[in-house]
Amino acid sequence: MSDTLILDETIQVARPLREVFAYVSEFSRIGEWDPAVSRGTKLTPGAPAVGSEYRIDMRAGFSLHYRIVEFEEDARMLMTVDSRFFTAREEILFEATNDGSRVRYIANFDVPAPLAAINRLYPSALARVGKSAMAGLKRALEDDFEAPRSSTILAVADRLVFPGLWRFTSLGFRESRKRWNAVSAFQGNRSAIITGATSGIGRAAARQLADLGARVTIVARNENKAKQLVAELKSQSGNRHIGYEIADLSLMSDVHALCDRLLAADAPVDMLINNAGALFNPRQQTAEGLEKSFALLLLSPFILTERLYPLLKNAESARIVNVLSGGMYAQKIAVDDLQNRKGPYSGSVAYARAKRGLMIMTEEWAGRWRRNGIVVNAMHPGWVDTPGVETALPGFYRVTKRLLRTPDEGADTAVWLATSSEAAKVSGKFWLDREQHPSHLSPLTRETAAERQTLVDTLRGLLASTMRKKPRRQRQAGA
Ligand code: NAD
Repeated sequence: MSDTLILDETIQVARPLREVFAYVSEFSRIGEWDPAVSRGTKLTPGAPAVGSEYRIDMRAGFSLHYRIVEFEEDARMLMTVDSRFFTAREEILFEATNDGSRVRYIANFDVPAPLAAINRLYPSALARVGKSAMAGLKRALEDDFEAPRSSTILAVADRLVFPGLWRFTSLGFRESRKRWNAVSAFQGNRSAIITGATSGIGRAAARQLADLGARVTIVARNENKAKQLVAELKSQSGNRHIGYEIADLSLMSDVHALCDRLLAADAPVDMLINNAGALFNPRQQTAEGLEKSFALLLLSPFILTERLYPLLKNAESARIVNVLSGGMYAQKIAVDDLQNRKGPYSGSVAYARAKRGLMIMTEEWAGRWRRNGIVVNAMHPGWVDTPGVETALPGFYRVTKRLLRTPDEGADTAVWLATSSEAAKVSGKFWLDREQHPSHLSPLTRETAAERQTLVDTLRGLLASTMRKKPRRQRQAGA
């Protein structure tokens, strides 16, 4: 014997119907707004449509299997739900109102007799679950969260070896995520450029942005890899607005040619994620005579960001995200040796100094461009299981492998900084797991005002001198 239980809840929010529908219909995001859910996973590729399936893991320890059976864009979706304990049909109705949108959620649960009996004894329990889910959805759609402020506790913990390092692992990520807010900001009208997207963290970030519906341009060196990735992102996300640009970012001629093409296209850039990176051992020099860590990790993002300023300025809420590393905590910028010529060369030191330099530029740009509405932040992805780490630090990789984060976990804060409304409220800071962290752990790594100015002047000088040289080759943008 079974019984039917019905939930029927409605919320009203001051958001356009298109944005509300885009957020709710991607049902894997239910974990952001329903407190009873620990995680939603999309099981089928493509945009939500009839046939899309999701696994929803409940905090109570069981899973639900959702399948969309009817789907009308901006109007309605009907899903069947299967689980060990009950089956259900859930219908969500969407409607535009004078001041926003209305969402009505109707769930018909088919429950076995024992569960029905419990419900008759405690009829308010199910209603409470429904009300708290819809209250969570309302909060998510109102999207009025304050960005986390810097915290003294975090700053102290960062200075202690155990909590400081533990945070970088996957366990640190999972602990932090319990405190996060929903990200419902609409990305369908925003464009992202992401460097180093064919592998590791950049690849995961590109996929997350594609899933959120943003227009994504990946920057890569290898055209075959770029084409393959674009095809994969399109088919996984159902997002057709994915393209590529080819550039070797350690060569400034390529960086300038890339900027020329993007400036000629004149499309606003809402998100620029400077992610490409590598650790070079032994010291290497590019064909243009620049030390490679400095060229790829500092001069290249400097030129790309400075030159794309007109496109960032034209965007409505532009974000620049610089992917840095905890390694920068160990180094001060060496303005008299930016290309690591003096003394014995260490790839890790060169890497950390370049990341430190990009942190300084993050603060400089944030100050300079605040009045233009451009938000600039830097982040540490944590220790992430990527081909980059495996190749550059094989010993570290072997020892820490089981604790490393997935690329998706590593990319999370970069995507959050680029997309969420709360992150738009803070500029010039260093983030890990959506929380602000100090940019220095020791006074010994702090540069003076004069050193900061020398860094900016040197980078500007190199921007100008490398721009005067003829581009090595022009390459065409992909579809
Ligand atoms: P990865 O090697 O998997 O990916 C690096 C990407 O950068 C690749 O797509 C590669 O093709 C691209 N790239 C490298 N050189 C390039 C060049 N000359 N021109 C164009 N593209 C180039 O490494 P990852 O771990 O995903 O690293 C991504 C970023 O995260 C880097 O900036 C790295 O410093 C930073 N980071 C990673 C970790 C980690 O634990 N993985 C930790 C801290 C910081």
